[in-house]
Amino acid sequence: MATNADKKLVRSKSGLRIVATSEDGRSPFELYEPPWVPDKECHECMKCSTRFDFMKRRHHCRRCGKCFCDKCCTIKIALPRMCFVDPVRVCDTCAAVTRKENEFFDKHLKTLTNGADFFLSGSTIEENNEELFFCKISQDQRTLQFEGEHRKHEPVELSKVDSVQILTSSADDQALTLEEASPIAIGLSIKYKDRQSDQQFLRMSITNLPNKKASQLWTAAMQKGARMLYESKSSETT
Ligand SMILES: [Zn+2]
Ligand SMILES: [Zn+2]
Repeated sequence: MATNADKKLVRSKSGLRIVATSEDGRSPFELYEPPWVPDKECHECMKCSTRFDFMKRRHHCRRCGKCFCDKCCTIKIALPRMCFVDPVRVCDTCAAVTRKENEFFDKHLKTLTNGADFFLSGSTIEENNEELFFCKISQDQRTLQFEGEHRKHEPVELSKVDSVQILTSSADDQALTLEEASPIAIGLSIKYKDRQSDQQFLRMSITNLPNKKASQLWTAAMQKGARMLYESKSSETT
């Protein structure tokens, strides 16, 4: 998925993939291919319990690696998160998850790389509600970048993000219709490790913005992205 790094073609039993040549080029949203449940450990479909025999063949889901009958593992779908070139066979559960993820890649990731305005404050930068920062995810998906009018802020490596918290306001001082009564995002708070591996936090606020729309969309997209970042991180350690 990395767009700027060198890439190579690799073939596994799941299919053909285009991956970065080095760890440094990997997208932090990427998932590793799961190991397949070995045939000898799997005598029946892991969903409907149909016994496998010479007529009932096993199929492995490319996303979870589990073993299913033909009926429970029919869908072929694009799986960019694992860098497959062609659509691959997945189970019903993984098909639903993958559709959501693909919506992130097709839509929300573009919002994040297009960028939006925020006010910054945190452990590395003092609050200043006069100065806007234009914040975006880099084209190679690896860093969160900040362009201030006067100041600079070191980019945040997305693989070093520990948590993303959406800050909300119940806005109970405003007259609200019923539909609007849900909490309103007023920004986000990011915990991450800097280049020296020191823990830092950054608050990206939209409270005082004259035009909030783009920044609210960006915040919502980042909330979706954060979930995928956590999942990618845990897939690395297992
Ligand atoms: Zn089945
Ligand atoms: Zn699956």
